[in-house]
Amino acid sequence: MDTTHLTKFYKKNHDDKIDSLFLAGVISKKEKDRLLDRTLELDPETGSHMIENYIGNYSMPLGVAMNYMIDKEELVVPMAIEEPSVIAASSFAAKIIGSAGGFKTTVIHRMMIGQVTLKNVPDIEEATNNVAEAKQKILSRANEAYPSIVKRGGGAKNLDVRLLEDDTDSGIPSYLSVHIHVDTQEAMGANIVNTMMEGIAPYIEELTGGTALLRILTNYATECLATSKCVIPAHKLKTQDFSGEEVRDRIIEATQVATIDPYRAVTHNKGIMNGVDAVVLASGNDWRAIEAGVHAYASRSGQYRSLTSWSKNEAGDLVGELTLPLPVGTVGGSISFHPAAKLAHSIMGHPKAHKLERVIVSVGLAQNFAAVRALVTEGIQKGHMGLHARSLAISAGAKGDHVQQVADILKHSKHKNLQRAKNILLNILEEFEK
Ligand code: NDP
Repeated sequence: MDTTHLTKFYKKNHDDKIDSLFLAGVISKKEKDRLLDRTLELDPETGSHMIENYIGNYSMPLGVAMNYMIDKEELVVPMAIEEPSVIAASSFAAKIIGSAGGFKTTVIHRMMIGQVTLKNVPDIEEATNNVAEAKQKILSRANEAYPSIVKRGGGAKNLDVRLLEDDTDSGIPSYLSVHIHVDTQEAMGANIVNTMMEGIAPYIEELTGGTALLRILTNYATECLATSKCVIPAHKLKTQDFSGEEVRDRIIEATQVATIDPYRAVTHNKGIMNGVDAVVLASGNDWRAIEAGVHAYASRSGQYRSLTSWSKNEAGDLVGELTLPLPVGTVGGSISFHPAAKLAHSIMGHPKAHKLERVIVSVGLAQNFAAVRALVTEGIQKGHMGLHARSLAISAGAKGDHVQQVADILKHSKHKNLQRAKNILLNILEEFEK
């Protein structure tokens, strides 16, 4: 990638942005033409095969975040999001973190977990022993239910048994859950795992004497964790009003608040998900699955807490870390045929699933850094309202150059609301007609 073409990307007009991505080697000539011809839309035939009662497409803006340096590799990151300021904040954070060495990531393992949950198990101890003894047979039967994943080098690898007991005093009986750990290779694997669970359920019933109530993967993907870390020298954090050390300490303190207060933690983590969801969605992955798993992971101590940690090292640098469960895929679902998802994978250089995890967790860390840094310094409204002003201008009916003109006046207005935007637009149009 030749990043010289991407300098001041945000200042270029739409067509020049696309051209510079082509010149930088991020997209091909064919992709450039598709973007310029506005032919990224899902065609009705594909749409009607994807969902039931299909009537049209719901468009979402697709943008790119710049300046990412992940494991020493420069990367342009595609993001699908309707919220202004997220991509700007992401690129800003990535620039600061990139200038300090970038993100360092780890993905230890990538296993999905399926559950066969049984009711009315007559003897829990005997059932548990029987399942443990039949481990290899159960794994073989799971693999027989989905042989192609075994041919691809994956498959069911391990199992454990969990007794699910009521801790609410509401008289719920105990259930027994057999967990199967599955290597789904490049897929997120929901359908692969579900097929396996349905395939082994009768055998598990035989072994335990219970009745299989549920046979599905869990979205709490605790064996599919990705971690990103960054180290930022304090001097890089300096703002007009605060020294670098003050900003560093305020970021650490704000994260302490999000660690002990769920009211703050939810908002803190929402900021992380601004970036995570945008890449998950752009890459054609199941963002409901990621959302569900991430928030459960934030509650793993028994209380909902900050997903990031920010601290200082001996040199006084700010050290950030984020770990997320990220069961994303590079194949499966709509990834291979949704035109925008295909483009997103191409922009990232067709990463393998573990690399996609590394990108997403780094974007989450960057997004959190940008949001908390702004919050503890100038506040987020300054940046937000500038961009929000453009949304208000569009809602007020502004078109073309008038959008920026209305937004510029609105930014300096006391009341930044729709009525004010409409009034400004009316004044501009009247002036224009004179
Ligand atoms: P698919 O059902 O599409 O299965 C993956 C496909 O990718 C298989 O057909 C497989 O082919 C193919 N494939 C090609 N190359 C590879 C490779 N290298 N590694 C692995 N597979 C490969 O997708 P998933 O099983 O990943 O399921 C994801 C979908 O399931 C998403 O759309 C999700 O929304 C949905 N879903 C989610 C649920 C949840 O999260 N709770 C529940 C149910 C569905 P082959 O068969 O030849 O091996």
